[in-house]
Amino acid sequence: MKKRLLYQILFFLLSIGILGFVVLAGKKSIHNICPYAIVCFGALKGNLLTLGLGIAALGGFLGILFMVVAMFWGRVFCGFICPLGSAQEFLYSLKRRRKKRTQIPYFAERKLSKLKYWVLGITMILVVTGFSWIYINFCPIYALSRLPALALGGLLTVVAIVISGMFLERFWCRFLCPYAALLNISQALGTLFGIKRIKVRRNLERCIDCGICSINCPMNLDILSEEFVSSSDCIHCMRCSEKCPKSGTICKGRES
Ligand code: SF4
Ligand code: SF4
Repeated sequence: MKKRLLYQILFFLLSIGILGFVVLAGKKSIHNICPYAIVCFGALKGNLLTLGLGIAALGGFLGILFMVVAMFWGRVFCGFICPLGSAQEFLYSLKRRRKKRTQIPYFAERKLSKLKYWVLGITMILVVTGFSWIYINFCPIYALSRLPALALGGLLTVVAIVISGMFLERFWCRFLCPYAALLNISQALGTLFGIKRIKVRRNLERCIDCGICSINCPMNLDILSEEFVSSSDCIHCMRCSEKCPKSGTICKGRES
């Protein structure tokens, strides 16, 4: 079994286990340990320091930790850890067995991928103005945390994520996830402070420009347009490298 798949399954099972524990034990909502909690009821409300050592503080800690990690290694959280990302990948792989992959043109991808910054901005505004409940009701993690009762708005988001993810791989991660937007901003800040993060690199001398890597990229990145994949949307899954017919052409590295 591939190492990344192993990590994905492990973290997915861990999430299910935590969800089961939280729901069955009637503890605080699993929503509290979501890394995006730093926005929902953390730093922006000025109460991150007053959360104590409780379960919500863990969410805040994880949120900041993965942002720091992203500065050096990119969005490995999305590629290896996030249960929502893994679930979308697992679902899409069922479709891939029967049908060809669906990709959209790169210009549309670039435009749609900006949507997640709008989601981030809107949620931040709602938080600071005290209206976070408006979007929290549509949060997929919150919906799961309310089990076995149903949070209708959140459940609708979960259904929308599942259906959209059947047509376009990682639809949520590519276009809508506000935490992905935060991770991307964190990478940009890292670059601003001179941190050279690890990127996917294509060896131009070995490459035969067949484009198989780009076709198979779950984030629909135009790998052929540059030597180092500069997009902060790269989740370091290395599927490009696995599918490349010229073994060893794609690897990871830092730009000098
Ligand atoms: S396939 Fe390659 S370029 Fe695309 S997200 Fe995965 S590692 Fe990044
Ligand atoms: S799949 Fe490999 S050989 Fe083909 S374009 Fe991508 S890096 Fe080059």
